[in-house]
Amino acid sequence: MTAGHRPAAGGSEPPVDATLTDCIRDLERQAAVLEPGPGERRAELDAVNAYLEEFLSTLDSRPASMAARQQARGILDSPIAEQGMDMGSVLQLFRENVNDVGASHASGRFLGYIPLGGLYPGALGEFLAAVTNKYSGDFSCCPGAAHMEYQVLRWIADLLGYPKGAAGNLSSGGSIGILTATVTARDAHGLRAPDYERAVVYLTPHTHHAMYKALRIAGLGGCVQRRIAVDAAFRMDADALDAAVAKDKKDGLIPWLLVGSAGTTDVGSIDPLDALAETADRHGLWFQVDAAYGGFFMLSELVRDRFRGIERSNSLVINPHKGLHSPMGVGAVLVAEGERLYQSHYHTAAYLQDTKYGGEQETSPADMGPELTRPFRALSVWLPLKLLGVAPFRAALSEKILLARYAYEKLAEFEYIELGPFPELSVVAFRFVPKDGDADEFNRRLVEAVREDGAVYLTSTVLNGRYMIRIAILSFRTHRDDVDLALEKIRYYVNSLAKS
Ligand SMILES: *Cc1c(COP(=O)(O)O)cnc(C)c1O
Repeated sequence: MTAGHRPAAGGSEPPVDATLTDCIRDLERQAAVLEPGPGERRAELDAVNAYLEEFLSTLDSRPASMAARQQARGILDSPIAEQGMDMGSVLQLFRENVNDVGASHASGRFLGYIPLGGLYPGALGEFLAAVTNKYSGDFSCCPGAAHMEYQVLRWIADLLGYPKGAAGNLSSGGSIGILTATVTARDAHGLRAPDYERAVVYLTPHTHHAMYKALRIAGLGGCVQRRIAVDAAFRMDADALDAAVAKDKKDGLIPWLLVGSAGTTDVGSIDPLDALAETADRHGLWFQVDAAYGGFFMLSELVRDRFRGIERSNSLVINPHKGLHSPMGVGAVLVAEGERLYQSHYHTAAYLQDTKYGGEQETSPADMGPELTRPFRALSVWLPLKLLGVAPFRAALSEKILLARYAYEKLAEFEYIELGPFPELSVVAFRFVPKDGDADEFNRRLVEAVREDGAVYLTSTVLNGRYMIRIAILSFRTHRDDVDLALEKIRYYVNSLAKS
């Protein structure tokens, strides 16, 4: 009993005459650092906490965008080795190459794309979930985790006005949620490969690209993708939709899926959901709503009524890591007829023979989406809601809406400005039209100058073929001072570019 028990290269070798139990004891000793003791845990947690406290207390004076110093090479220059490093050195590598480089999504002055995540109690929820290591995929393994997930989903379903029979799944984000919902829609309509080329999806030029990705991943990339015209505020034209569906029916196609947006990424526009639901009902379409960005604004009385009709959709995606500021990696998909979600995602195997659809009480989360092993995401949404209550989330979202209106009003006072639509939610789009020279080029240079300055972070889009700048307000850390600073930077660089 000797040679066969040698540990892998790198470990210290036991004496040649070692017994099996000697070898096991030796390996156990070598692996013991995987379980730090109370003193080490305390020291590591203290070091991480000290780093984070320093980070959070200086966040206000840090830029929203930092130069990509040597493209963070330090990570690559420090290879993963057999021997570990001390926590101080690891944190130093993280600070210099990760946290102090590039865009800072933690900043309240990050106003690009759709701002994401970052809520501290949400991070504590992730930590709690990771250390207790509870598996949230199987009801019988951890009924409490399943209850927590279903409670979060039910709370969202109630907010949206979804029926009692609705069911859902916490996904990694909107993209996987959309894929999950789209596959459910496919199965609910009994679409099979020979039908795909005649199946029609209705969307708009402002539908999120995750929808196109989902179709392609699901093998449905070859279906007919009908981009319905939008009105001046970038909302789907319901009459044009109705006409398109009627024509497709007459032409022998299979009108299948209608995708409405409840908050487009471009400008935050909300499609006329009630009218869309009407058309979907009339023609037997599956009505899916992308509320990834906009959905949680239903918490605000300021805009709640704009979502009328959302409760009539068949499936829906909404992102806690956007509107609820959960750490990145939590989306939610909901299906009004919950059993459809299960039918498309459960899988049988001998070892899964006890799995069944029992509504919220018994179904396993792993049967309601594509993942088997999955993070315990509910805790990072549930913990902040339990700890803080819903009220501060409502207030923060109403504040964002008013900040967007404030930015819009202030921008209207700028010279040479051309404003996009009045913000329905919290995205403001605009551009400058200089007296001479190419407007697209001018605005592109403006965004670059602001980005290089770094104090605030802005991104752009294209509307009606024109380059447009966006101010997207969603972080719980974005307040009036931050918007004022963004406006000040824009004014400064408009003036300096106009002179150059
Ligand atoms: C962010 C977003 C998505 C994609 O969600 P991820 O969580 O990034 O995958 C889809 N639709 C809209 C409208 C979005 O804003």
